Parts: sequence; structure tokens; C-alpha cells
Amino acid sequence: MKTEVISTARREEAGTALGAELIQNGELVAFPTETVYGLGANGMDGEAVNRIFEAKGRPNDNPLILHVAKKSDVKALWAHVPKLANVLMDTFWPGPLTLIFNKADEVPYEVTAGLETVAVRMPADKTARMLIQKSGVPIAAPSANRSGRPSPTTAEHVLADMDGRIPLILDGGPCRYGVESTVLSLVGDPTILRPGAVTREMLEAVIGPVRLAPSILNPLGEREVAASPGMKYKHYAPDASVHVVEGEPKPVAKRIRTLYYDLEADGKRVAILGTEQTMPGYRNMNAYSLGDRDDPETLCQSLFRLLRDVGGDCDVILAEGVETANTGLAFMNRLLRAAGFSRERV
Ligand code: AMP
Ligand code: MG
Repeated sequence: MKTEVISTARREEAGTALGAELIQNGELVAFPTETVYGLGANGMDGEAVNRIFEAKGRPNDNPLILHVAKKSDVKALWAHVPKLANVLMDTFWPGPLTLIFNKADEVPYEVTAGLETVAVRMPADKTARMLIQKSGVPIAAPSANRSGRPSPTTAEHVLADMDGRIPLILDGGPCRYGVESTVLSLVGDPTILRPGAVTREMLEAVIGPVRLAPSILNPLGEREVAASPGMKYKHYAPDASVHVVEGEPKPVAKRIRTLYYDLEADGKRVAILGTEQTMPGYRNMNAYSLGDRDDPETLCQSLFRLLRDVGGDCDVILAEGVETANTGLAFMNRLLRAAGFSRERV
């Protein structure tokens, strides 16, 4: 299969029209969102949804998110719309917040991986919404990477993983946030299953206390597997192995320098993912800045890109860990999973 790439800066109308036609025919389309690139199919067509799992090599017990073009679309997808959901949709939609609630009968089990609940989000990205609108159906879409790899934040990343496997990629340039949406379950007490750009602090300001699934910063415990099946798989892994050093900037940089020279002496090719605060301490070393420790959104924006770009050319990545307040939580969740929880604190 030949994979066509259409730039939305030049041909948004034509690109989304072709995309909608493909979606209606049960085919797959990769498209930009404000979080990461999604790999979409008609969310009401179980056979089309199965193609997503095939193209990604995704285990079929890991459910997908349904993307809608307007808030009222959730009525057809959930058993009913809980009160809390209305407040959250009014505050955070369109945007990087996915809500989980009991599914309506019409939602195919291929989307929910057999669960009785379904995840729904209304993206803010204009191209994404245009594609959904023209398709006339909710679009089921996980991230558009091969399973286990870092999520794609540019069309080039999608092409690297999906060339020859899907007919169309809509290229909308780099994604604004660079990490996937916050996933909030509204079944029982509100619980964040995956942190994102809509933070716990932002949610609590609107609806009061919100729980965090323990697996966010830890390997998945046995009891959690049922509620969040996707979390048990290897995630975001670049070609190199990753080790995380957490703590204050100065001691972190000192420890990373020691590890770097030890690994180099062992003949390893090493790269450092530092921060603006520590970059001066890595002069003449193979080091890249993730962004500003005081503005973790910048760290989120560059993490997957650097894991892909740097991970291909080295054996070991030494990465700095930061505080888990605000979007620091989303950053640390992705980084620790990319590292397989190889971490130390100094
Ligand atoms: P992706 O954006 O590719 O990471 O895939 C969607 C994410 O949402 C995965 O982490 C899923 O485990 C999660 N998810 C989707 N639907 C549900 C659901 N019904 N219950 C729990 N988690 C879900
Ligand atoms: Mg994913």
C-alpha cells in the first residue's frame, strides 16, 4: 500500500475530504491533534477498528479513545451523561481531556477491548475536528505509532512507523502539547488513569478531589490491570535504553556526568537529556535540552521527539527527572515508562 502525505497548511479541505472518504470506507487515516498524531478509523465499525490494532501491532485488550466533533455527540456513546461530565466538558472541551464512562450498547466492543466503559474526547485541533465532522462518525484513534514506540508528534514520525501500512497521513506540523490526553475515569470516584496537559490541579479546581491511579508513577499492580489494561504494556520505548536521575539540578547533573563517563569508558554510545538549568554542566558532551524545569509543558513538548531522534544513534540515554506537580506528572509518567522504571534519586 502506498502512503500518501497531505499537508493541511496547503490542502486542508481536500485532505480532510479524502480522509473522510477513507474513514467511511473502513480504512485508516493518521491525523494531527493538539496532543499527538492519532491513527483513526470509523469508531462504530468493529472491522475498521480491528485494522488499527493490526497496523499498530497493538495487543487487542488495549482500548481506544473515540474522538467527537461536538459535545452533544457523547449522548450516543455513553449509557447516560453524568453531571460531572457536563461540567468537565464545558470547562475543558475541546481539549486534551478524555472522559471514561459506561458505554452505550451501540459502541462496538472492538473499541473498548471488551470493557463496558468507553473513552471519549473532543480534540481542539481544527484539522482533527474537520475530519471527524466530514466523516460523520466518531473516530476511534490511539496514537499513530507502532505499539511500544514513542508516540508521534510530527507527520515524519508517523511515516517512519506506518509507511506502507496506511493509505493517508494528514500533516499538520508539530503537535502543540506533545503528550497524549489526560484520561479521567468517571466510573466511581473521578480517577486519573493517565496524566496529560489538563492537570490534576486544573481538574480539582473545578470538581474537587481527584484520585491518581497508582500506576501513573509505578509499574502496574495486579489489581489495576482490569481498570486500565493499556498500562501493562511496554510504552514509549526508543531504540536505546533509558535511565532516569531525579533530584535537584546540581546533584542530578553531577551524577549524570559520572554515569556518562563510566558508560563511555565501557564503549557505550551515550546521550544526555538535560534541562536548560543543567545544560551548562554538560559542555562538550552529547547532551540535548528537554526544556525548562520551571515550565514542564516544554519538557512534554520535546520528550517523544528527542526519544526518537536521539534514541536511534546511541545505546544509553541518561535523562533528568523533575518534580511531579502540574504537567511535570505527565512528563514523569511518560519518561519512567520509556525507561522501564530504571531510576535513581540523588
Ligand atoms: P493511546 O492514546 O494510544 O495511548 O490509547 C488510549 C489510552 O486510553 C490507553 O492508555 C487506554 O488504556 C486508555 N483507555 C481507553 N479506553 C479506556 C477504558 N474504557 N478504560 C480504561 N482505559 C481506557
Ligand atoms: Mg499510545
